[in-house]
Amino acid sequence: MKYAELAGLYEKLENTSSKLAKRDAIADFLRKVPTDLIPGVTTLMTGKVFPAWSEEELGVANQLMIRAIARSVGTKPSDVSSKFRETGDLGLTAEQFAQEKKQRTLLKKELTIKHTFETMQSIARQSGPGSQDRKMNLIVALLSHAKPKEARYIVRTILQTLRVGVAEGIVRDAIAVAFKVDPKLVEAAWFLRPDYGEVARIAKESGESGLRAAKAKVGMPIIPLLAEKAPSLEAAMKAYENFVIEYKYDGMRIQIHKKDNRVALFTRRLENVTNAFPDIVKLCKKAIKENRVIMEGEAIGLNPKTGRPMPFQMLSTRIKRKHDIEKAVRQIPVQVNLFDILYLNGKTLFDMALRDRFEILKKSFVPEPGIKLVDRLLTEDPKKAEEFYRKALSDGQEGVMVKNLDALYVSGRRVAGGWLKVKPVMETLDLAIIGAAWGTGKRTGQLGSYILGCRDPTTGDFLECGMLGTGIKEKKTKPGDITLEDMTRMLRPNIISEKGGRVRIKPKIIIEVAYEEIQKSPTYSSGWALRFPRLIRLRPEKGIGDADSVQRIKHLYNIQKGKTSS
Ligand code: AMP
Repeated sequence: MKYAELAGLYEKLENTSSKLAKRDAIADFLRKVPTDLIPGVTTLMTGKVFPAWSEEELGVANQLMIRAIARSVGTKPSDVSSKFRETGDLGLTAEQFAQEKKQRTLLKKELTIKHTFETMQSIARQSGPGSQDRKMNLIVALLSHAKPKEARYIVRTILQTLRVGVAEGIVRDAIAVAFKVDPKLVEAAWFLRPDYGEVARIAKESGESGLRAAKAKVGMPIIPLLAEKAPSLEAAMKAYENFVIEYKYDGMRIQIHKKDNRVALFTRRLENVTNAFPDIVKLCKKAIKENRVIMEGEAIGLNPKTGRPMPFQMLSTRIKRKHDIEKAVRQIPVQVNLFDILYLNGKTLFDMALRDRFEILKKSFVPEPGIKLVDRLLTEDPKKAEEFYRKALSDGQEGVMVKNLDALYVSGRRVAGGWLKVKPVMETLDLAIIGAAWGTGKRTGQLGSYILGCRDPTTGDFLECGMLGTGIKEKKTKPGDITLEDMTRMLRPNIISEKGGRVRIKPKIIIEVAYEEIQKSPTYSSGWALRFPRLIRLRPEKGIGDADSVQRIKHLYNIQKGKTSS
């Protein structure tokens, strides 16, 4: 099958915003695709070359792509760069150069989907000395045979910026329509095997019965259960008949897969972090007695000197780390707090109540320093529960989880009836915008990702305390919405200096910011970082002297940790 057909589909998808039209276009296409190409084509449809959780990545940056495009059309990289500055999209840039070159080249092979897909996979598999050159050669080989439209999508796929508006829900529904199966079954199979390529193959080859029979597989992460928010501990305790209260640790959710002596680790977003955490791998090999298991827990960083929990931001520096891993293991040792087991020796345990899963979990490992069961309390006494909650906070954790002991494990959405999280409600802060970054792609020419500043009353300076990108709309849909354009218009006159796509901004604009929590920060100049800040509204009535101070942030931090009452 020709790649041109896939490029045609991408173009169709890009040109319609209707989800139904996208779904039907993909379904029609999938029906035409031969079985052996189904996994590849389905994966490509989502803009990926490997499932999201795969360790393999293409590792091609804009600069390498610019050189590859230049070579494939016989021009200078600086020409490609200047066109890129105009378009903000290397896919379109490659297309335009290919268009100009079209008249000159006669000897072109027609690209097939199979060849293009395999070449993309092979780009990811180049490693070691000279790998950048080999990657470039592979890209050039594809681009020199690509028609202009094909070049657009090849470049975007390799850069992982396909942007044809195909969210996973659309692919799920397209598979259901193409192979006449229930979308719920497609989703259920995907929860256990989150790889639409594989799910589409099952749907095509063995229909609904195949999807029903899909099982979790050790080594392939499953979509985790998510928690709902409860307004208070009291409300959470009323929600379920039988419940347990657990510490809600401030760490990284970790899915542990163990098969004989091999261990793989995945985050909540299904990123494979096995290589970044050799210490957890070692602990699991030692502590887990069963041969084939999937367990879940929360890993937290511990201060090597005091043994106290470290803020999540310290642990997060280990997640994407590729170098100096052993040093990080020493500097930020971890503790794994296990709270669930989902699979044991050939059986998926989703249909078992939490109460029973927990008993199995207890028996399937032996605690070691660094790996243990979660701190938990079985009580219906509101006083004891409150004490436990306060203790979780003063131990440096986020709050507690109240879990329904009768609940089965349900992947995906925040469904009622499973877990409720209880955290202190944080007051909003009024902060100044003191920096920003220029957007790329669709956001070229607009300022996004705003650096927030709190006031230092002793010097009058503003100190960094977070980075905000949430709460600003692309387009106005209702009165009061604040768009990127509005923000850019307001901030542009206050730019003080500019470097590498980032700008410093004179503190003038004050905004009200909500956030999940305050953490100590090793990087921001105030020493504090707001986690998940989002814009509530502009505060044009406030002058910079009204912005919240660094002391107020410290005070709120203490309240959050249960050290002071509000
Ligand atoms: P949230 O991210 O605020 O929706 O809260 C859910 C997250 O809390 C989970 O994804 C885990 O990473 C984390 N967590 C911390 N402690 C626990 C626990 N005892 N049980 C389940 N999740 C926990």
